[in-house]
Formats: sequence, C-alpha cells, structure tokens
Amino acid sequence: MKQRTARRRAELFGLLRAFRDAAVALPDAFVAIDEHQRVLWFNAAAGRLLGLSYPNDLGARLFDVVDIPRMPEWIASGGAEALTEIVAPTDADVHLTLRLIPYAQDHALLLARDVSQMLRVEKVRRDFVANVSHELRTPLTVVHGYLDLIEPEQIPEYEPILRELRNQSRRMTQIVEDLLTLSRLDAEEALPESRVAMRPLMNSLHRDAEGLSRGRHTIVLDMKGDDDLRGSSKDLYSAFSNLVSNAVRYTPTGGRITIGWSSGPRGGRMRVTDTGHGIAQQHLPRLTERFYRVSTSRSRESGGTGLGLSIVKHVLQLHDAHLEIESEVGVGSTFTCVFERNRLLSPEHATEEA
Ligand code: ADP
Repeated sequence: MKQRTARRRAELFGLLRAFRDAAVALPDAFVAIDEHQRVLWFNAAAGRLLGLSYPNDLGARLFDVVDIPRMPEWIASGGAEALTEIVAPTDADVHLTLRLIPYAQDHALLLARDVSQMLRVEKVRRDFVANVSHELRTPLTVVHGYLDLIEPEQIPEYEPILRELRNQSRRMTQIVEDLLTLSRLDAEEALPESRVAMRPLMNSLHRDAEGLSRGRHTIVLDMKGDDDLRGSSKDLYSAFSNLVSNAVRYTPTGGRITIGWSSGPRGGRMRVTDTGHGIAQQHLPRLTERFYRVSTSRSRESGGTGLGLSIVKHVLQLHDAHLEIESEVGVGSTFTCVFERNRLLSPEHATEEA
C-alpha cells in the first residue's frame, strides 16, 4: 500500500514537473495571480515580455512589478476582452496582446503574446494598398479626363467601345477612391467629431435615393427621433449613402425603400430597408469583407466596387457603433447602424450650444 502511494506520488510529481516545464518553454508569457493580484507563478517569457524577475517578484502585487498603464482597470473589470496593442514594459518596439483567464476560485492566468511581427506585416499590407491606390489615382484621372473630352456620338463606329471605356475608367476611379477611403479609416484611431444634424442628413439621403432611383422605386423617409449624433459628418454621410445606394441598386423597379432614423434611451438606429433581391443567410457574416459580393456580375452591372459595406463597418467602428443585417432572399433586406446612447446629442443641447 505504502509503496503504491509512493509510486503514485512520484508519478504525480513527474506529471506536474512536465506541465511546468511545458509552460516554462512556451513563447507566450504566463503569470498566475491570486484574488489580490499577487504573483503566484510565472514562466520565462514573462521575464522577457513583462519584466518579471525570479524569485524576487513572486508574491508581489502584479501592478507594482509590471508597469502597463491600462492593465489595473482592465483586470479589475474582469478582463473579458483581450487588451490589444500594448507596448511591452521591457521594450518599446514590442507590442503585446493580453488575455485574462480565470481559474480555480478568484485566481487568474494572465497571458501576454508578442504580436509585433503580426502588426508589422499588417502595416506593410496597409501601406502597400494605400501606396498602390495613391499611385493609380493620377494616371486614372488623366485617362478619365481625356475620355470625357471625346464625345462618343462624334465617332459613331467607336461609340460602344468609348462608352465601355468610360464606364470602366469610372469604375476603376471609384475602386481607387474607395480603397483610399478604407486606408484612411484603417489608419485612423478616432475621427474628428462634431454634431451631426440628423434631420438634414436624412433629408439629403432621401434626395440622393430619389436621384439614384430616377422614379423606379417608392422611397419613404421615416423619422422617429429628434436626437442628433456625435461624430464625423462626412464619414457618417458616406457610410449611410453606401447603404442607400445598395438598396436602390439591389431592388428591382417597383420596390419600396425606407430610410429611417430612430433614437431614444436605448440609443440610435439608422435603418435602410428594401424589398429587393435579398441575401441568403450564409453570406451575411462575410458581407462586410473587402470585395465580398454575393453576385459579382450583379454588383458590377450596378456599378458596385465590393467595398461599400467594408467602409460602412469601419466608419461605424470609429463611432463605437455596429451594423446589423437582416435579409431574406426574394423578400428584401434591412441594414441597421446601431449607435450607443452616449453618441446621441439631444436637441436641447443644440439650443444651448447655439
Ligand atoms: P457592392 O459595391 O458590390 O455593392 P458592398 O460592399 O456595398 O459592395 O456590398 C457587398 C455585397 O452585399 C454586394 O455585392 C451585394 O451582393 C450584397 N448587398 C449589399 N446590399 C444589398 C442589398 N440592399 N440587397 C441585396 N444585396 C445587397
């Protein structure tokens, strides 16, 4: 019996040591903390990435030995979401993502991963797209400008070709402009903010829709709130315009399009509903990806670039808002921009500020 217990204990110690060795060898930093955020244990990477030193920092309060400004509030609030783009306290060139994993009772594992390489690659990709788009802009403007000088009617034998050239150069220009908009939004952490007066903005969107539709659809404006938004007028207008133009482009003649704004204690909602082609459920999660289209030919025919919803998503993110999409094939779609309460500005404010 005694022998068996001793053997069992040796096995358990062996297993524990193996686990510890594995954790020590991991490239990510691990720090186990108790309910008072005291350091119980950490691996070698925690020394390199977070500056912890063994054995001095064992038992110390985490915030006294690891200097990351946003970390104390993050841990206090439960750290449900990862803390991203953190500069490592040991090296300003190293960027970390932190995660907090609760275990046992009131204990937690702090995980820090070096994401510097990934951020560098991401920056190279962003710069490349921005540079290519920028370089393409001037030659395209020249081509487009010359094409506009030639009247297709003057050269009847080339009329269809000239019209196609004009269409395609317009399309390319739009793609480049959309890519540049996306690059700018990508690089932005916050947008310039001011009061965005919703009533005039919605009236403009209504007029734009009428212009694009040219009488082919019934277009209704539905205002159910007086609040304005706090944000970038230009970017919100561009995001909402994309939704309106999609509704017009993907709704056959005779359809109905409703452009609505509602606001109240639960926040604000800008909504565009159409009775158009609709979208099958499996496409919905991917619609805001760049160049994702349900039907490439339908998008092209209607002058789409495949970047509109991606722009919408970015603009909304920069306004702490998000996009909700409901759709049914053959019935229609509703795109809703959902804004938090703290993004609303009440009309009384307008009088105070005026
Ligand atoms: P595009 O320029 O192709 O319209 P978007 O990013 O604006 O690109 O939209 C992505 C895709 O989502 C479109 O190609 C289309 O398939 C689909 N889509 C967007 N809005 C609607 C809508 N109102 N009704 C049906 N399909 C839509």
